[in-house]
Amino acid sequence: MSADAAELRALTQEFLAAHPPASTPREEFLRARFDAGLAWVHYPQGLGGLDAPRSLQAVVDAELTAAGAPDNDPRRNGIGLGMAAPTILRYGTEEQKKRFLKPLWTGEEVWCQLFSEPGAGSDLAALGTRAVLDGGTWTVDGQKVWTSGAHNARFAILIARTEPDVPKHKGITYFVCDMTDPGVDVRPLRQITGEAEFNEVFLTGVKIPDAHRLGEIGDGWKVAQTTLNNERVAIGGARIPREGGLIGLAAKTWRERPELRTQDLHQRLVKLWVEAEVARLTGERTRQQLVAGQPGPEGAGMKLGFARLNQEISGLEVELLGEEGLLYDDWTLRRPELVDFEGREAGYRYLRAKGNSIEGGTSEILLNIVAERVLGLPPEPRTDKDVAWKDLSR
Ligand SMILES: Cc1cc2nc3c(=O)[nH]c(=O)nc-3n(C[C@H](O)[C@H](O)[C@H](O)COP(=O)(O)OP(=O)(O)OC[C@H]3O[C@@H](n4cnc5c(N)ncnc54)[C@H](O)[C@@H]3O)c2cc1C
Repeated sequence: MSADAAELRALTQEFLAAHPPASTPREEFLRARFDAGLAWVHYPQGLGGLDAPRSLQAVVDAELTAAGAPDNDPRRNGIGLGMAAPTILRYGTEEQKKRFLKPLWTGEEVWCQLFSEPGAGSDLAALGTRAVLDGGTWTVDGQKVWTSGAHNARFAILIARTEPDVPKHKGITYFVCDMTDPGVDVRPLRQITGEAEFNEVFLTGVKIPDAHRLGEIGDGWKVAQTTLNNERVAIGGARIPREGGLIGLAAKTWRERPELRTQDLHQRLVKLWVEAEVARLTGERTRQQLVAGQPGPEGAGMKLGFARLNQEISGLEVELLGEEGLLYDDWTLRRPELVDFEGREAGYRYLRAKGNSIEGGTSEILLNIVAERVLGLPPEPRTDKDVAWKDLSR
């Protein structure tokens, strides 16, 4: 069935009548919503969707919000929803889709991303974590780093080297790793904010069944592109209202604290307000383009702008607050479930925004992507394209 807006509205009302939000336990409500195809309407039937146009999700969401329905707290499982799910949908087997998508969507199973390694961040294809197949089982050994949310995650998307004898982009395979398996060791990494939202993860003799491979052996780089393109849109493309996000907080301080104002800060605030609005509308346009298919490299531009703006706005807010902006609320080592940009002090926002131009691809790398894949400019010289990974100097 491919539904239109009126049909979806009616379907959602029927669903709400059968599962009144006030008297239905949260998880039961979310599971039923998935089963009714109202989780992500553009997904196939039986997998949380109705094969409907992606744009119609907004119709369903509006009805549910108006009825006070619980949501699945998407920020808690950003990697699962934003990156693992579209990759599983595109490359997973029917069994994998059936096993993973529902608890991922309801948030009962949180996901993390085991991609970066010491020495393989921007140059992700240089990764050295090995996976060796014996019978139907892979054995994985290596180290990953900067793994956001690994301490809360049940599953991870993982890329590992399976063929060292071919060039670096070719010998990689993509897996789903069970984070509760023996041999997975998660250790906190304390960040500039004082909290440990990410980790290093040591993988020692971890057994992964071949049934948990996504895509063909050696095709992991291609599969990872789906994840990475979605990552940039997920990071840079959350739907925000006008004056939402950090600019809203800076503008609020400006309005409520006239004694802090100066002419120079006023000029800068207005300039950033306009830029934030342009970024917001660009994000909206990119989201609408997404309706037509998978995200393309344009998402890199959006993520770039988001990172720069967050850093400038949070810096301005700290400046505006003067000495007060230097106070820091809490240095306790916490292991948060999500990044709470708006729930804490200006100093926290300022420090946390530093990571925005690194996570999900550094700004320099995203500029390369925009130059090469969006603008079609000549590529950077690459000398290692045809060299076997095992022969690369490290
Ligand atoms: C808050 C946060 C959360 C993260 N979460 C995750 C996660 O959940 N899972 C995960 O797998 N990873 C995660 N990462 C890792 C992140 O993706 C990497 O840190 C990032 O890709 C950069 O890699 P690197 O740290 O190895 O730096 P490097 O690649 O060593 O880069 C160092 C500097 O050199 C520049 N540089 C490198 N190559 C080029 C080039 N060709 N041209 C121009 N400049 C270049 C870079 O832009 C950068 O400024 C996270 C990082 C942060 C900060």
